[in-house]
Amino acid sequence: MSKTKINIPEKGAAVQKDRETYAISPYLQGGLADPDTLRKIADVAEKYGAKFLKLTSEHRITIYGIPFEDIDNVWKDLGMEPGGLSGKIVRPLKFCIGSSSCKMAKQNTIKLGIEIDKQFRGIKTPDKMKIAISGCENSCAEPAVRDIGLIGTKEGWNVLVGGNAGLQPRLGKLIAKNLSDKEVLDLIDKIITYYKENGEKTGLSRRLGKVIHSMGFEKFSQEILEK
Ligand code: SF4
Repeated sequence: MSKTKINIPEKGAAVQKDRETYAISPYLQGGLADPDTLRKIADVAEKYGAKFLKLTSEHRITIYGIPFEDIDNVWKDLGMEPGGLSGKIVRPLKFCIGSSSCKMAKQNTIKLGIEIDKQFRGIKTPDKMKIAISGCENSCAEPAVRDIGLIGTKEGWNVLVGGNAGLQPRLGKLIAKNLSDKEVLDLIDKIITYYKENGEKTGLSRRLGKVIHSMGFEKFSQEILEK
C-alpha cells in the first residue's frame, strides 16, 4: 500500500494519522437513521475491515481505517452521499430530536432542520458556517456556539448569531425572538447573503462571529433586520 498524505474531498475521504487509511462519514440528515441504515453502515465497515466507528459531535457516524483502494467500493456499497463536508461552506445541520419525541421540547426541530438543511447546506461562505437547532432552552444541540443557533420557545424560535467553539470560543448573540419557521428561513437567508457580500467584499476569511465583532453587533443586527 502506498503512503498518501492528502484528503480527497471529492470522495468524501479524510486521510488519517497513519497517512495510509481514510475516514469517511456517510450523510445522516441531522444524525437521524433507521435500523436498516445503521445495519448497512455496520456491514460495510465490517466488510472493508474498518478499525472502528465513531459517533461525532456533529451527529455523524464516521468509519475509520478504510484503505485508499477501497474508498470507491465503500461508497458504492453504502449507496449514500458523503456527510463529512468540510471547507468554507454551510455545513450539515445539527439538531436535537425536539417535539418528535422529547417531552421538554417547545418546537419541531426535525421539520425546520430538514428544511434549513435542504435550502442552505453546501452554500459557499467566507468561512465555515455551522447551524444548530435545539427544541428548548436546554440547548442540547449547543446553538450558542454555532454561527447560527436556534432555540425553541412556546412562541416560536429565538435566533442567536456569531457563536463558535474552537481556539477562541464565542457565544452567539440574540438577534430575533419568537420567529415562525418561515421567518427563520428568511432570516437565515439574509444572514448568509450579508455574510457572503461583506466577507467577499473585504476579502476577509473569518467566522461570522469575528465579522460581527469587528463591525459591532448593533450595526450588524440593524442592517440584517432592515433588509
Ligand atoms: S434541547 Fe430541549 S427539546 Fe432538544 S433534546 Fe434537549 S431537552 Fe429535548
